[in-house]
Amino acid sequence: MKRIYLDYAATTPTHPEVAKAMLPYFTEVFGNPSSIYSHGQEAKGAIDEARIHLAELIGARNEEIVFTSGGTEADNFAIKGVAFANKNKRDHVIISSIEHHAVIETCKFLEKRGFNVTYLPVDEYGLVDPGDVKKAITNKTILISVMHANNEVGTIEPIDEIGKIAKEAGIYFHTDAVQTVGHIPVDVNELGVDLLSMSAHKLYGPKGIGALYIRKGTKLASFIHGGEQERRWRAGTENVPGIVGLGRAAELARQKMSEEAERLAYLRDKLIKGILERIGHTHLNGHPSRRLPNNVNVSVDFVEGESMLLNLDLEGICASTGSACSSSSLEPSHVLLAMGLSHEHVHGSLRLTLGKWTTDEMIEQVLDVLPRIVAKLRAISPLLKGQR
Ligand code: PLP
Repeated sequence: MKRIYLDYAATTPTHPEVAKAMLPYFTEVFGNPSSIYSHGQEAKGAIDEARIHLAELIGARNEEIVFTSGGTEADNFAIKGVAFANKNKRDHVIISSIEHHAVIETCKFLEKRGFNVTYLPVDEYGLVDPGDVKKAITNKTILISVMHANNEVGTIEPIDEIGKIAKEAGIYFHTDAVQTVGHIPVDVNELGVDLLSMSAHKLYGPKGIGALYIRKGTKLASFIHGGEQERRWRAGTENVPGIVGLGRAAELARQKMSEEAERLAYLRDKLIKGILERIGHTHLNGHPSRRLPNNVNVSVDFVEGESMLLNLDLEGICASTGSACSSSSLEPSHVLLAMGLSHEHVHGSLRLTLGKWTTDEMIEQVLDVLPRIVAKLRAISPLLKGQR
């Protein structure tokens, strides 16, 4: 059975060209970038080149990019870094209630250490209202963090508007752009952000490598101490193959982004339309138009997301759900709950995220298989029995 992978928001396969670019840095060019002999300097040169590619992708200066172990570390670094560097003056942080756990849990950690955190509501589409951001600001606010696009429902937030508000108020602004960099245009100046998180494995790079954009002049505490790597922002011998992979992934993304986004948006819309038409009692989650080109998230009445996942898996289709106990999480999706979905709709949610190797035939196959799975599950559904 040929696998149909529709979970690109969870992780992407490493692009063969990315893997190819990385390989020499495991074997031939293995020198330590801090060593002054040419073998080490060659590795350092590769890091510099990767930094240029990543900076170009997001409109930053090279020296504003700091490599991290991924999106989670970038989020931790940005939020704790700003909070601790400025805590004598201000102790209030504003985030949205649909942030990734890497942001939410970091803020919970800060709360235990005396910071105050405001969790902004979202509307039924998952959108943050910039007016709410403005209202939440106090003279104690040091940081606003709102994600560029949500990983579950794909809603794209009004980051540029929030950026203007933050700038006017003289408050640092961070965005988690893990789901957008390499997929839709990201320009740190147009968005008006001071800090921006990225992760390689969401843009066809390897796992365990990411980066934080830090606008020049941002007052930030680093929290990995040791050597002088990354201009002392982040100590530790660099993950050279990973960094090279991220750089190559950024370069490839830049070349193909707009045509790929157009192709995916077509497939996305075909899948959404097909599901809503062929399966009764289904609802689209997330914004109908301000949406990542690869994201489909629907709630299917009277069935459990997990049951759909298991049945799809038997057909070779990889998907995801915001339902409890799925994907090793114990809680139902905080994102769908914050959008006001009922527990039934959260438990019946299904996320299908498309990518580089998703074809029209695959979408057809899902549109053939999914209605049959739902019909089978509904036939034995205790949820539906209550309705009969
Ligand atoms: N932020 C968002 C929006 C994500 O989707 C993810 C990954 O799922 C992360 C942060 C964490 O990134 P990483 O897996 O590189 O730690």
